[in-house]
Amino acid sequence: MHDKKSPYIYIRDSKKKRRDPAIKPAAIILIVFLLLFIPHYILQAAAYIDTLQQLEKMKEGNNELNKENTSLKNELDRAQKGLENLKQEMEKTKDVNKKVAYLTFDDGPSTNTGKILQILNNEHVKATFFVVGNNTDFGKEAYRQIIAGGHAIGNHTYSHNYRTLYGSVEAFQEDFMQLENLLYETIGQRPSILRFPGGSNNHVSRKYGGRQLMNRLADLKTKEGYQFFDWNVDSRDASKIVQNTDTIVQSVLNGSRNKKKAIILMHDSQVKTTTVQALPRIIAGLKKQGFSFDSLTKDSFTNQFIKQKPAH
Ligand SMILES: [Zn+2]
Repeated sequence: MHDKKSPYIYIRDSKKKRRDPAIKPAAIILIVFLLLFIPHYILQAAAYIDTLQQLEKMKEGNNELNKENTSLKNELDRAQKGLENLKQEMEKTKDVNKKVAYLTFDDGPSTNTGKILQILNNEHVKATFFVVGNNTDFGKEAYRQIIAGGHAIGNHTYSHNYRTLYGSVEAFQEDFMQLENLLYETIGQRPSILRFPGGSNNHVSRKYGGRQLMNRLADLKTKEGYQFFDWNVDSRDASKIVQNTDTIVQSVLNGSRNKKKAIILMHDSQVKTTTVQALPRIIAGLKKQGFSFDSLTKDSFTNQFIKQKPAH
């Protein structure tokens, strides 16, 4: 039966008849298979490539975002630093404009020192004592009481004797260190603040150590890390042996009136009884003028009569 012949035989037969190229069924299946699935794989591959490209784009986008994030962070840091600087500037302006009185007492300790400490304690006021040398039990106890009261001690030389002190740089140094060592033994600290007897511009020293002595001493002590303080308000309690109480009060209050920072010169040596009497009125008057009170430190506002030459 002709129609019952397998296609293979039929094809082989027709090949023989028509000399057509042989197309085997397996090949057809393969071609059909390929024709069906290749586009599918191509599409899949295309989709895969597309996804890769999208991922790459996302990565790039992410990098861009990271970059933007970093630059925003930097900007934020800069803004924060700017704010910090502004705050510091504002603090400084506040400090500069704040009225501060620095009460200073020279030439003690004496029995007046304890009375002054009592008044300062009652008024909750801090002050500075530029002390001289006193190695008696009384003297040492007074140094301790000053520190216990929260006040500052400055070096005013051991002897306070102009002839001895201002003979030479070496003589000054020896006298200065004698007090520094006594203070270290007594209160456990070496003061970093000092006041030259007679002030840094005193002329008495010229007679003993020459015209340049005070300049040399001011330069030397500064280089050694000390800070020296003169004053910008004089109580005039040293203009007479015993000054009138009213004169002391008025001198301080008039001298401080237009100042933001007042370094007030007073004395607590044995004869200065009227300074003790004037003190409560001075504190009340300064408070009324808007002053707060502080003790001096190395970094405080200072007033120096002698102008130091720049170091060479
Ligand atoms: Zn003095």
